[in-house]
Amino acid sequence: MSDIGAIVRDIAREMAAVAQRGRVADYIPPLAEVDPARFGIAVVEADGACHLAGDADMPFSIQSVSKVFSLTLALGKVGDALWQRVGREPSGSAFNSIVQLETESGIPRNPFINAGAIVVSDVVLAGHQPREAIAEILRFTRALAGDDAIFVDEHVAQAEQGTGFRNAALANYMRAFGNLRHPVEQALGVYFHQCAIAMSCRQLALAGRYLMLAGRSPATGGSVISAARARRINALMMTCGHYDGSGEFAYRVGLPGKSGVGGGILAIAPARASIAVWSPGLNERGNSEIGTIALERLVQRTGWSVFGPSY
Ligand code: GLU
Repeated sequence: MSDIGAIVRDIAREMAAVAQRGRVADYIPPLAEVDPARFGIAVVEADGACHLAGDADMPFSIQSVSKVFSLTLALGKVGDALWQRVGREPSGSAFNSIVQLETESGIPRNPFINAGAIVVSDVVLAGHQPREAIAEILRFTRALAGDDAIFVDEHVAQAEQGTGFRNAALANYMRAFGNLRHPVEQALGVYFHQCAIAMSCRQLALAGRYLMLAGRSPATGGSVISAARARRINALMMTCGHYDGSGEFAYRVGLPGKSGVGGGILAIAPARASIAVWSPGLNERGNSEIGTIALERLVQRTGWSVFGPSY
């Protein structure tokens, strides 16, 4: 048996020495202030063993990783009817691309590109004031992690609100096609606040346990979603979780994963581990440069790729 704790500590040491660390996102001003030298990793195994290294307890902006939690909530609310409003195919386009929306009549390709996540926010909003919908997403995330210290970074949310012109364009465009039911400002308000949730690698890996454990959460003691739904969310993370870098991530890492422009990645080794890595520098596709290398090494050393062993 490999010693996962030792592997995690070795990887953190190796990542500290990597010189090419990517570029920190600067289109959301507070994200540009984060130190690119940061690196954290947390691995929670199926038996509950938790291995941490580097800045594993430092909160960062989870950004698009939140789309996994909001999708889970939306599926719980409306079930498979969601798929009439959002597709399930990789986009091959950037996270904030508008091009496919025109030819595809305002139906986003998948729930992880920004347009798809804004529709998901609109679904979570149903029957709520925006403030309540944000509180529901936060409550759900805290329950999954078993940690009430998780918070929405209001400074980041406001910065996104002030600079999110592309997201506003996507939302308005979909509203014109009738694929947003609430006022654009409300759907965007929910979306920006969920992206502004701050979590540490430890909290994120704990929150992801239901995806490793066929829908069950040790934090709540029960079933969060069905096993079939957990499997399908993992499938979407594999095919769409890294935008137009999803093929490359599957090739290099071979795990369902969701990235965010804050530099975090949640990756799931089904039945084995829930993994969170964080390093703020991004590659040209907007995914964490060092985080991806760290996951690649973790999978090489543990043999956890869903596609087979590495030796
Ligand atoms: N809040 C970010 C945006 O909408 C999320 C993008 C990401 O993390 O990929 O631009």
